Amino acid sequence: MGAVPKRRISKARAGRRRSHLALRADHLVTCPQCGAPVRPHHVCLSCGTYRGTAVIEIKEE
Ligand SMILES: [Zn+2]
Repeated sequence: MGAVPKRRISKARAGRRRSHLALRADHLVTCPQCGAPVRPHHVCLSCGTYRGTAVIEIKEE
């Protein structure tokens, strides 16, 4: 048998450990060019610009 816990972890201790495990939503800023929500320091995927200059081509449907 391998390593086995000697005592069960109490609900309070498990909750304290898991108090840091929550996931958070992506932080978003607004694109100055088109106003779409964009991840900070990333090229805008709706208009293809980064800091006011066109960086990538956006394919229209
Ligand atoms: Zn944009």
